[in-house]
Amino acid sequence: MIASNLNKFKKELPEHVVLVAVSKTKPVEDLQKAFDAGQRIFGENKVQEMFAKWEVLPKEIEWHFIGHLQRNKVKYLAPFVSLIHGVESFRLLKEINKQALKSNRIIDVLLQFYIADEETKFGLSVEEADVLLSSEEYKMLNNIAIRGVMGMATFTKNQEKIKGEFQKLKKIHEGLKENHFSARENFDIISMGMSGDYKTAIDEGSTMIRIGSSIFGERN
Ligand SMILES: *Cc1c(COP(=O)(O)O)cnc(C)c1O
Repeated sequence: MIASNLNKFKKELPEHVVLVAVSKTKPVEDLQKAFDAGQRIFGENKVQEMFAKWEVLPKEIEWHFIGHLQRNKVKYLAPFVSLIHGVESFRLLKEINKQALKSNRIIDVLLQFYIADEETKFGLSVEEADVLLSSEEYKMLNNIAIRGVMGMATFTKNQEKIKGEFQKLKKIHEGLKENHFSARENFDIISMGMSGDYKTAIDEGSTMIRIGSSIFGERN
């Protein structure tokens, strides 16, 4: 079932959209099935769980951290994580830089923006991002690369509302690109869209979708 779900996505997705298979809470056997079906990018939202899976699964896998990351746990991910989606504070960004330096790496990250109207969701405001990206301190962070933006829409069936929130994220990306990343080619990721709203997200400019239940089945 996992393989056929993945194949369905592969057929359906435009070429410029990257599929992150969100495997949180699922056993390694399920991830292995997805791997055998050709999937190489997996998303997890708990540090310990991601670490444990990384240890036992094939090393070709690219691990994306998609959850709320605590600063004191960055050190566990720094040696191997491919992309951290949810950077929502300067302090976290600095810690990622510090740990990346220790691992002699440059770690790709996305800035997470607050686009929903739910208090449970995290994210920067545009003003906060402007302050961060204009600071001298930011310019000294040589071991992180900000590759784009990430956002989560409100949990609702109202696709019009979701559409508006995704449009907001797309605009934020455009604004940051113009104001802070115009000299760089690779500020090119817009991570938005999950099982329930990925079609809307792609219509509104997503370049990376994070799909869990539509690949692996419902979580408990
Ligand atoms: C769980 C999760 C997903 C995937 O959700 P599904 O609805 O199962 O596709 C995507 N993004 C984040 C940040 C998540 O925590």
